[in-house]
Amino acid sequence: MNSLQITGMSNYSTLLSVFDRYHTFALSTHINPDGDAIGSELALYAFLTEIGKSVKVFNTDAVPKNYKFLPCWDVIEGVNAVDTYRPEVLVVLDASTLERIGKRLSKTLLPIHKLVNIDHHATAEAFGDINLIMPAASSTSEIVYKLIKHYQTSINQACALCLYTGLMFDTGCFRYSNTTDETHRIAAELIEIGKFAPDEIYRNVYEQLPVAKLRLLSEVLSTLQVTDNGKIASVYATQEMFRKTGTNTDALEGIVNQIQAIAGVEVALCASEMTDRSTKVSLRSQGRVDVSQLAAEFEGGGHARAAGCRLVMHYLTALTTLVQTAQRYMDQSPSKYKDCRKD
Ligand code: 5GP
Ligand code: MN
Repeated sequence: MNSLQITGMSNYSTLLSVFDRYHTFALSTHINPDGDAIGSELALYAFLTEIGKSVKVFNTDAVPKNYKFLPCWDVIEGVNAVDTYRPEVLVVLDASTLERIGKRLSKTLLPIHKLVNIDHHATAEAFGDINLIMPAASSTSEIVYKLIKHYQTSINQACALCLYTGLMFDTGCFRYSNTTDETHRIAAELIEIGKFAPDEIYRNVYEQLPVAKLRLLSEVLSTLQVTDNGKIASVYATQEMFRKTGTNTDALEGIVNQIQAIAGVEVALCASEMTDRSTKVSLRSQGRVDVSQLAAEFEGGGHARAAGCRLVMHYLTALTTLVQTAQRYMDQSPSKYKDCRKD
């Protein structure tokens, strides 16, 4: 496979020429899709259909309820819908590795001509024929925004709404260190084009909490542990907690960020017992430790300040292992505050 790593603005045209040349497209994104995954995917869907392409979208996991306000969310189909369909071009968004779209989907959904990889993860693999990997971008949505701008077409209203949602989500509502003057400028333009009220987007994404999620939160917070030096905080969720509260792992979203907000905490971890008894761990860092490297030691990945991995271990063993590893990273890194903004 001929791999072309595109990093500069000028090279957007290489990818755009592929968009011009072919007619049938499929889009996909990572399992447990978040706001950036679905936002960037639906924005690209809106753009490609507007320029006359035939586009299908296939995801392993269903669209979470709180993203069903996005235009065209219902074009997203599941793995079974792929059947014998073969697009000329497959575009994978926000996924780090091809397997992250789901093992079965990655083996079923095969392009005839080109595999395109658009991503902003620090640990992104160049698995495509064309790889638009920009770790300095706040989100995959920001890359898609720049790509469409480069096509010199106007961004339509639906597209603006999807891009804004992705940008908002991956910058933690413009709070994280990947928020820059540029992300604010892009956001302002998208609000102008999309003619939506930002507070409504916020409410749609974050304020649709089922009571059950709060009950789970209370269970999970009761497991909170902080290391003696106060630098590493961790919580865990068990299948028993999900059963008791009528929730699943989706309800854990955002919990690790709350743990990270504890004064003095440098690394926050949330371990979740999965149905197959493996453990998914979410990691967050205030900047002193690069958690994407830490997660990569366990075949995971992500960003310097937000990463994840899955361990085939009991949740308590997994958590102990990761807390110890995080401590090793802390011991090795300078105590001076390190800015990972461009990570
Ligand atoms: P979260 O903790 O919110 O699930 O994920 C945080 C970040 O880490 C996201 O950017 C996500 O894509 C990445 N991430 C989470 N789990 C994994 C994993 O198992 N493998 C890889 N490569 N990245 C992950
Ligand atoms: Mn993203």
